[in-house]
Amino acid sequence: MICFNVPPCTGHEMKYIAEAVASHKICGDGQFTKKCSAWLEQRFNAHRVLLTTSGTTALDMASLLCELQPGDEVILPSFTFSSTANAFVNYGARLVFVDIRPDTMNIDETKIEAAITDKTKVIVAMHYAGVACEMDTIMDIARRHKLLVIEDAAQAVMSTYKGRPLGTIGDFGCFSFHETKNYSMGEGGAILINAPQYVERAEILREKGTDRARFFRGQVDKYTWVDLGDSFLPSELNAAYLWAQLEMADEINDDRLKSWNRYNEAFADLKARGLVELPVIPEGCVHNAHMFYLKCRDLTERTAFIQFLKERDILAVFHYVPLHSAPAGLRFGRFEGEDKYTTAESDRLVRLPLYYGLTDEDQARVIKAVRDFYGV
Ligand SMILES: *Cc1c(COP(=O)(O)O)cnc(C)c1O
Repeated sequence: MICFNVPPCTGHEMKYIAEAVASHKICGDGQFTKKCSAWLEQRFNAHRVLLTTSGTTALDMASLLCELQPGDEVILPSFTFSSTANAFVNYGARLVFVDIRPDTMNIDETKIEAAITDKTKVIVAMHYAGVACEMDTIMDIARRHKLLVIEDAAQAVMSTYKGRPLGTIGDFGCFSFHETKNYSMGEGGAILINAPQYVERAEILREKGTDRARFFRGQVDKYTWVDLGDSFLPSELNAAYLWAQLEMADEINDDRLKSWNRYNEAFADLKARGLVELPVIPEGCVHNAHMFYLKCRDLTERTAFIQFLKERDILAVFHYVPLHSAPAGLRFGRFEGEDKYTTAESDRLVRLPLYYGLTDEDQARVIKAVRDFYGV
Protein backbone atom coordinates (compact mmCIF):
# COMPACT_ATOMS: atom_id res chain seq x y z
CA MET A 1 0.00 0.00 0.00
CA ILE A 2 1.40 3.40 -0.94
CA CYS A 3 -0.04 5.94 1.46
CA PHE A 4 -0.97 9.40 0.38
CA ASN A 5 0.98 10.92 3.27
CA VAL A 6 3.43 9.69 5.90
CA PRO A 7 4.16 12.18 8.72
CA PRO A 8 7.74 13.45 8.58
CA CYS A 9 10.18 11.85 11.00
CA THR A 10 13.94 12.46 10.90
CA GLY A 11 14.93 10.02 13.63
CA HIS A 12 15.87 12.58 16.29
CA GLU A 13 12.36 13.19 17.59
CA MET A 14 12.44 10.71 20.47
CA LYS A 15 15.76 12.06 21.71
CA TYR A 16 14.41 15.60 21.93
CA ILE A 17 11.10 14.53 23.45
CA ALA A 18 13.07 12.59 26.10
CA GLU A 19 15.11 15.74 26.77
CA ALA A 20 11.94 17.73 27.28
CA VAL A 21 10.61 15.10 29.68
CA ALA A 22 13.90 14.98 31.61
CA SER A 23 13.96 18.76 31.91
CA HIS A 24 10.65 18.69 33.81
CA LYS A 25 9.39 21.42 31.52
CA ILE A 26 6.65 20.06 29.31
CA CYS A 27 4.21 22.97 29.19
CA GLY A 28 4.62 25.64 26.54
CA ASP A 29 7.37 28.18 25.89
CA GLY A 30 10.27 26.05 27.13
CA GLN A 31 13.61 25.53 25.42
CA PHE A 32 12.27 23.69 22.36
CA THR A 33 9.57 26.27 21.70
CA LYS A 34 12.24 28.96 21.97
CA LYS A 35 14.58 27.10 19.64
CA CYS A 36 11.83 26.61 17.06
CA SER A 37 10.59 30.20 17.09
CA ALA A 38 14.14 31.61 17.01
CA TRP A 39 14.95 29.33 14.07
CA LEU A 40 11.83 30.43 12.20
CA GLU A 41 12.55 34.10 12.88
CA GLN A 42 16.13 33.82 11.67
CA ARG A 43 15.56 31.59 8.71
CA PHE A 44 12.71 33.71 7.33
CA ASN A 45 13.88 37.04 8.66
CA ALA A 46 10.52 37.38 10.41
CA HIS A 47 9.92 40.07 12.98
CA ARG A 48 8.29 37.77 15.54
CA VAL A 49 7.14 34.16 15.37
CA LEU A 50 4.94 32.54 18.02
CA LEU A 51 4.23 28.81 18.01
CA THR A 52 0.54 27.93 18.26
CA THR A 53 -1.47 24.77 18.84
CA SER A 54 -2.39 24.55 15.14
CA GLY A 55 -2.49 26.39 11.85
CA THR A 56 -6.15 26.92 12.64
CA THR A 57 -5.43 28.71 15.92
CA ALA A 58 -2.68 30.75 14.23
CA LEU A 59 -5.42 31.99 11.89
CA ASP A 60 -7.70 32.59 14.90
CA MET A 61 -5.00 34.74 16.48
CA ALA A 62 -4.49 36.68 13.26
CA SER A 63 -8.23 37.25 13.04
CA LEU A 64 -8.40 38.48 16.67
CA LEU A 65 -5.50 40.85 16.01
CA CYS A 66 -7.50 42.39 13.15
CA GLU A 67 -10.20 43.38 15.70
CA LEU A 68 -13.09 42.61 13.40
CA GLN A 69 -16.55 43.91 14.25
CA PRO A 70 -19.74 41.97 13.45
CA GLY A 71 -20.62 42.63 9.83
CA ASP A 72 -17.05 43.36 8.74
CA GLU A 73 -16.09 41.58 5.54
CA VAL A 74 -13.13 39.36 4.76
CA ILE A 75 -12.12 38.55 1.20
CA LEU A 76 -10.79 35.04 0.62
CA PRO A 77 -10.79 32.28 -1.98
CA SER A 78 -13.52 29.64 -1.83
CA PHE A 79 -11.02 26.95 -2.78
CA THR A 80 -9.42 26.54 0.64
CA PHE A 81 -9.65 24.66 3.93
CA SER A 82 -12.50 25.43 6.35
CA SER A 83 -10.02 26.86 8.89
CA THR A 84 -9.27 29.80 6.60
CA ALA A 85 -12.93 30.79 6.85
CA ASN A 86 -13.72 29.78 10.44
CA ALA A 87 -11.08 32.09 11.84
CA PHE A 88 -13.25 35.03 10.75
CA VAL A 89 -16.72 33.57 11.11
CA ASN A 90 -15.87 32.70 14.74
CA TYR A 91 -15.49 36.41 15.43
CA GLY A 92 -18.57 37.65 13.60
CA ALA A 93 -17.23 38.58 10.18
CA ARG A 94 -18.91 37.92 6.82
CA LEU A 95 -17.04 36.06 4.10
CA VAL A 96 -16.71 37.34 0.57
CA PHE A 97 -15.41 34.62 -1.73
CA VAL A 98 -13.49 35.50 -4.87
CA ASP A 99 -12.69 33.20 -7.79
CA ILE A 100 -9.29 31.54 -8.20
CA ARG A 101 -6.77 31.55 -11.04
CA PRO A 102 -6.81 28.26 -12.94
CA ASP A 103 -3.01 28.10 -13.18
CA THR A 104 -2.03 28.21 -9.48
CA MET A 105 -5.47 27.63 -7.89
CA ASN A 106 -4.75 30.75 -5.80
CA ILE A 107 -7.08 33.73 -5.33
CA ASP A 108 -7.35 35.72 -8.58
CA GLU A 109 -5.76 39.02 -7.61
CA THR A 110 -7.44 40.79 -10.52
CA LYS A 111 -10.88 40.06 -9.04
CA ILE A 112 -10.23 41.27 -5.50
CA GLU A 113 -10.84 44.97 -6.02
CA ALA A 114 -14.38 44.43 -7.34
CA ALA A 115 -15.23 42.60 -4.10
CA ILE A 116 -14.18 45.43 -1.79
CA THR A 117 -16.97 47.33 0.00
CA ASP A 118 -16.90 49.88 2.82
CA LYS A 119 -17.19 46.89 5.21
CA THR A 120 -14.06 45.12 3.94
CA LYS A 121 -11.28 44.82 6.52
CA VAL A 122 -9.06 41.91 5.52
CA ILE A 123 -7.79 40.06 2.47
CA VAL A 124 -6.66 36.47 3.00
CA ALA A 125 -4.02 35.13 0.63
CA MET A 126 -3.86 31.34 0.83
CA HIS A 127 -0.77 29.97 -0.92
CA TYR A 128 -2.09 26.76 -2.38
CA ALA A 129 0.41 23.89 -2.61
CA GLY A 130 3.09 26.24 -1.28
CA VAL A 131 3.01 28.32 -4.47
CA ALA A 132 2.75 32.05 -3.83
CA CYS A 133 -0.23 34.24 -4.57
CA GLU A 134 0.52 37.36 -6.64
CA MET A 135 1.57 39.23 -3.50
CA ASP A 136 2.78 42.53 -5.02
CA THR A 137 -0.67 43.15 -6.48
CA ILE A 138 -2.48 42.01 -3.33
CA MET A 139 -0.34 44.21 -1.05
CA ASP A 140 -0.85 47.17 -3.36
CA ILE A 141 -4.64 46.76 -3.29
CA ALA A 142 -4.58 46.37 0.49
CA ARG A 143 -2.46 49.48 1.06
CA ARG A 144 -4.62 51.61 -1.24
CA HIS A 145 -7.83 50.50 0.50
CA LYS A 146 -6.30 50.36 4.00
CA LEU A 147 -6.97 46.66 4.46
CA LEU A 148 -4.99 44.11 6.44
CA VAL A 149 -3.49 41.09 4.72
CA ILE A 150 -3.28 37.65 6.32
CA GLU A 151 -1.24 35.03 4.53
CA ASP A 152 -2.58 31.54 5.08
CA ALA A 153 0.86 30.00 4.56
CA ALA A 154 -0.14 26.70 6.19
CA GLN A 155 1.23 24.84 3.17
CA ALA A 156 4.00 27.28 2.35
CA VAL A 157 6.76 26.95 4.95
CA MET A 158 10.09 27.46 3.06
CA SER A 159 8.46 28.85 -0.10
CA THR A 160 9.31 32.31 -1.42
CA TYR A 161 7.89 35.04 -3.63
CA LYS A 162 10.47 37.24 -5.39
CA GLY A 163 12.98 36.13 -2.79
CA ARG A 164 10.73 36.85 0.19
CA PRO A 165 9.63 33.98 2.45
CA LEU A 166 5.89 33.35 2.38
CA GLY A 167 4.25 34.29 5.63
CA THR A 168 6.43 37.42 6.02
CA ILE A 169 4.83 39.60 3.34
CA GLY A 170 1.37 40.34 4.72
CA ASP A 171 0.60 41.84 8.14
CA PHE A 172 0.33 38.32 9.55
CA GLY A 173 1.40 34.91 8.28
CA CYS A 174 0.09 31.57 9.50
CA PHE A 175 1.99 28.28 9.30
CA SER A 176 0.70 24.79 10.01
CA PHE A 177 2.76 21.95 11.47
CA HIS A 178 0.01 19.38 11.17
CA GLU A 179 1.19 15.88 10.29
CA THR A 180 0.13 16.38 6.67
CA LYS A 181 2.37 19.41 6.23
CA ASN A 182 6.05 19.53 5.24
CA TYR A 183 7.24 20.04 8.85
CA SER A 184 5.24 18.62 11.67
CA MET A 185 4.67 18.50 15.40
CA GLY A 186 1.53 16.37 15.19
CA GLU A 187 -0.81 19.27 15.71
CA GLY A 188 0.70 22.74 15.76
CA GLY A 189 1.38 25.93 13.90
CA ALA A 190 2.88 29.38 14.14
CA ILE A 191 1.85 32.96 13.63
CA LEU A 192 4.28 35.41 12.06
CA ILE A 193 3.76 38.96 13.25
CA ASN A 194 5.25 41.18 10.59
CA ALA A 195 4.11 44.53 11.93
CA PRO A 196 5.83 45.28 15.29
CA GLN A 197 2.82 47.10 16.77
CA TYR A 198 0.90 43.81 17.06
CA VAL A 199 3.51 41.79 18.97
CA GLU A 200 2.50 42.75 22.49
CA ARG A 201 -1.21 42.08 21.96
CA ALA A 202 -0.37 38.79 20.22
CA GLU A 203 1.63 37.63 23.24
CA ILE A 204 -1.27 38.55 25.54
CA LEU A 205 -3.91 36.79 23.41
CA ARG A 206 -1.78 33.68 23.33
CA GLU A 207 -1.25 33.64 27.12
CA LYS A 208 -4.90 33.62 28.23
CA GLY A 209 -5.19 37.38 28.14
CA THR A 210 -2.32 37.96 30.58
CA ASP A 211 0.88 39.96 30.27
CA ARG A 212 2.91 36.92 31.31
CA ALA A 213 5.43 37.37 28.46
CA ARG A 214 6.27 40.88 29.65
CA PHE A 215 6.56 39.54 33.22
CA PHE A 216 9.11 36.92 32.18
CA ARG A 217 11.15 39.59 30.41
CA GLY A 218 11.14 41.59 33.65
CA GLN A 219 9.12 44.42 32.10
CA VAL A 220 6.35 44.26 34.74
CA ASP A 221 6.67 43.00 38.32
CA LYS A 222 3.54 40.85 38.33
CA TYR A 223 1.36 39.47 35.61
CA THR A 224 -2.35 40.03 35.46
CA TRP A 225 -5.35 39.54 33.25
CA VAL A 226 -5.27 42.49 30.87
CA ASP A 227 -7.28 41.53 27.76
CA LEU A 228 -9.29 38.77 26.16
CA GLY A 229 -7.32 35.72 25.18
CA ASP A 230 -7.03 31.99 24.93
CA SER A 231 -4.41 29.28 25.32
CA PHE A 232 -2.70 29.19 21.97
CA LEU A 233 0.68 27.80 23.03
CA PRO A 234 1.66 24.21 22.30
CA SER A 235 3.29 21.77 24.71
CA GLU A 236 7.07 21.35 24.76
CA LEU A 237 6.62 17.72 23.71
CA ASN A 238 5.21 18.87 20.41
CA ALA A 239 7.85 21.55 20.01
CA ALA A 240 10.57 18.94 20.63
CA TYR A 241 9.16 16.90 17.74
CA LEU A 242 9.16 19.98 15.51
CA TRP A 243 12.74 20.86 16.42
CA ALA A 244 13.93 17.56 14.96
CA GLN A 245 12.30 18.59 11.69
CA LEU A 246 13.50 22.18 11.55
CA GLU A 247 17.06 21.03 12.17
CA MET A 248 16.82 19.14 8.91
CA ALA A 249 14.59 21.59 7.07
CA ASP A 250 16.77 21.71 3.96
CA GLU A 251 17.12 17.93 3.71
CA ILE A 252 13.35 17.55 3.96
CA ASN A 253 12.77 20.28 1.39
CA ASP A 254 15.33 18.80 -1.05
CA ASP A 255 13.86 15.33 -0.70
CA ARG A 256 10.34 16.57 -1.42
CA LEU A 257 11.52 18.66 -4.36
CA LYS A 258 13.30 15.68 -5.84
CA SER A 259 10.06 13.67 -5.75
CA TRP A 260 8.06 16.60 -7.10
CA ASN A 261 10.43 17.12 -10.01
CA ARG A 262 10.43 13.44 -10.79
CA TYR A 263 6.63 13.41 -11.09
CA ASN A 264 6.71 16.57 -13.15
CA GLU A 265 9.19 15.09 -15.64
CA ALA A 266 7.46 11.71 -15.76
CA PHE A 267 4.17 13.29 -16.84
CA ALA A 268 5.50 15.94 -19.22
CA ASP A 269 4.50 13.90 -22.26
CA LEU A 270 0.96 13.34 -20.90
CA LYS A 271 0.67 17.08 -20.58
CA ALA A 272 2.06 17.66 -24.10
CA ARG A 273 -0.62 15.36 -25.45
CA GLY A 274 -3.34 17.21 -23.60
CA LEU A 275 -4.22 14.25 -21.35
CA VAL A 276 -3.50 15.99 -18.04
CA GLU A 277 -2.60 19.40 -16.71
CA LEU A 278 0.32 19.87 -14.32
CA PRO A 279 0.99 22.49 -11.62
CA VAL A 280 2.18 25.90 -12.81
CA ILE A 281 4.90 27.72 -10.87
CA PRO A 282 4.87 31.41 -11.87
CA GLU A 283 8.11 33.26 -12.38
CA GLY A 284 9.53 34.63 -9.17
CA CYS A 285 7.96 31.87 -7.07
CA VAL A 286 10.04 29.17 -5.42
CA HIS A 287 7.87 26.43 -3.97
CA ASN A 288 8.42 23.84 -1.25
CA ALA A 289 6.96 20.79 -3.02
CA HIS A 290 4.11 20.68 -0.55
CA MET A 291 2.01 18.73 -3.00
CA PHE A 292 2.00 17.30 -6.48
CA TYR A 293 -1.33 17.35 -8.21
CA LEU A 294 -2.54 16.83 -11.70
CA LYS A 295 -5.81 17.72 -13.32
CA CYS A 296 -7.90 15.20 -15.18
CA ARG A 297 -10.22 16.28 -17.96
CA ASP A 298 -13.34 16.18 -15.79
CA LEU A 299 -14.90 14.84 -12.60
CA THR A 300 -15.89 11.50 -14.16
CA GLU A 301 -12.35 10.86 -15.32
CA ARG A 302 -10.96 11.86 -11.92
CA THR A 303 -13.27 9.43 -10.11
CA ALA A 304 -12.13 6.63 -12.40
CA PHE A 305 -8.49 7.69 -11.96
CA ILE A 306 -8.64 7.55 -8.16
CA GLN A 307 -10.38 4.18 -8.30
CA PHE A 308 -7.80 2.83 -10.77
CA LEU A 309 -4.96 3.79 -8.42
CA LYS A 310 -6.80 2.41 -5.41
CA GLU A 311 -7.11 -0.99 -7.08
CA ARG A 312 -3.31 -0.88 -7.34
CA ASP A 313 -2.95 -0.03 -3.62
CA ILE A 314 -2.08 3.60 -4.25
CA LEU A 315 -3.94 6.30 -2.38
CA ALA A 316 -4.56 9.51 -4.29
CA VAL A 317 -6.96 12.13 -2.96
CA PHE A 318 -8.86 15.23 -3.96
CA HIS A 319 -9.88 18.04 -1.65
CA TYR A 320 -11.72 21.25 -1.00
CA VAL A 321 -15.33 21.10 -1.89
CA PRO A 322 -15.49 24.86 -2.54
CA LEU A 323 -16.51 26.62 0.65
CA HIS A 324 -19.11 28.88 -0.94
CA SER A 325 -21.23 25.89 -1.94
CA ALA A 326 -20.83 24.08 1.41
CA PRO A 327 -23.63 24.46 4.00
CA ALA A 328 -21.62 26.77 6.28
CA GLY A 329 -20.33 28.78 3.34
CA LEU A 330 -23.89 29.49 2.21
CA ARG A 331 -24.72 30.68 5.72
CA PHE A 332 -21.69 32.84 6.40
CA GLY A 333 -20.72 34.30 3.06
CA ARG A 334 -21.35 35.15 -0.56
CA PHE A 335 -19.45 34.63 -3.78
CA GLU A 336 -18.55 37.89 -5.47
CA GLY A 337 -18.51 37.72 -9.27
CA GLU A 338 -18.64 34.59 -11.39
CA ASP A 339 -17.47 31.16 -10.24
CA LYS A 340 -15.60 30.57 -13.45
CA TYR A 341 -12.80 28.35 -12.13
CA THR A 342 -13.30 27.52 -8.44
CA THR A 343 -15.76 24.64 -8.88
CA ALA A 344 -14.70 23.50 -12.33
CA GLU A 345 -10.98 23.32 -11.54
CA SER A 346 -11.38 21.75 -8.09
CA ASP A 347 -13.49 18.98 -9.66
CA ARG A 348 -10.56 17.94 -11.84
CA LEU A 349 -7.73 18.08 -9.34
CA VAL A 350 -6.15 14.98 -7.79
CA ARG A 351 -3.13 14.80 -5.47
CA LEU A 352 -0.53 12.05 -5.71
CA PRO A 353 1.43 10.51 -2.81
CA LEU A 354 4.25 12.85 -1.79
CA TYR A 355 6.08 12.87 1.50
CA TYR A 356 9.54 13.04 3.02
CA GLY A 357 11.11 9.63 2.48
CA LEU A 358 8.92 8.48 -0.44
CA THR A 359 11.12 5.80 -1.99
CA ASP A 360 12.12 5.72 -5.65
CA GLU A 361 10.51 2.28 -5.97
CA ASP A 362 7.18 3.45 -4.59
CA GLN A 363 7.22 6.58 -6.69
CA ALA A 364 8.03 4.53 -9.80
CA ARG A 365 4.97 2.40 -9.04
CA VAL A 366 2.78 5.50 -8.81
CA ILE A 367 4.17 6.86 -12.06
CA LYS A 368 3.60 3.57 -13.84
CA ALA A 369 0.03 3.31 -12.57
CA VAL A 370 -0.76 6.83 -13.79
CA ARG A 371 0.73 6.06 -17.20
CA ASP A 372 -1.19 2.78 -17.36
CA PHE A 373 -4.43 4.64 -16.66
CA TYR A 374 -3.78 6.85 -19.68
CA GLY A 375 -2.60 3.87 -21.75
CA VAL A 376 0.86 5.29 -22.46
C1 LIG B 1 -3.62 22.62 6.99
C2 LIG B 1 -4.25 23.92 6.68
C3 LIG B 1 -4.81 24.74 7.67
C4 LIG B 1 -5.01 24.30 9.09
O1 LIG B 1 -3.88 23.89 9.75
P1 LIG B 1 -4.05 22.92 11.03
O2 LIG B 1 -2.66 22.94 11.60
O3 LIG B 1 -4.46 21.60 10.53
O4 LIG B 1 -5.03 23.54 11.94
C5 LIG B 1 -5.30 25.98 7.31
N1 LIG B 1 -5.26 26.40 6.03
C6 LIG B 1 -4.74 25.64 5.05
C7 LIG B 1 -4.71 26.16 3.67
C8 LIG B 1 -4.23 24.37 5.33
O5 LIG B 1 -3.74 23.62 4.34
